Amino acid sequence: MKTIYLSIFLLFIGCKGKSQEKPTMESTTFEVQKTDAEWRAELSDLQYYVLRKAGTEPAWSSGLLENKKKGVYVCAGCNIELFKSEHKYDSGSGWPSFDREIEGNVAFDEDYNIGVKRIEEHCAVCGGHLGHVFNDGPRETTGERHCINGAALKFIPSAQ
Ligand code: FE
Repeated sequence: MKTIYLSIFLLFIGCKGKSQEKPTMESTTFEVQKTDAEWRAELSDLQYYVLRKAGTEPAWSSGLLENKKKGVYVCAGCNIELFKSEHKYDSGSGWPSFDREIEGNVAFDEDYNIGVKRIEEHCAVCGGHLGHVFNDGPRETTGERHCINGAALKFIPSAQ
């Protein structure tokens, strides 16, 4: 009997503990899950700062900014395809910009880090932070400006 009471008590504690957890990027279940130590080991300092700490690379610093080659931009954290070269455009912002994402592979969130509401975007597979999306993009296409840290991306040129 004592064991039963103890089991019920432990069950109660267990449930209570779980229900009080707030969802964070760490607790959200992404397909690719790695420990902080693993991310640190496999990413460069800048990639880690951007992808895992939602940092922003300095404007005009990305080697992908002027890249006009045909290909696909994949996540530097998990290699899933995120943006296509045909949707890249020169926004003049200093960060690689696209008028749309590859649907389903990018997820969105609200962010108030600079005091105003912005739409944050991150990789839907590993949760890595990519940048933000604004509505001052090219009017002749989608009107969206996906302002992306080049450090969050790797470019894979088209084969030919
Ligand atoms: Fe990813």
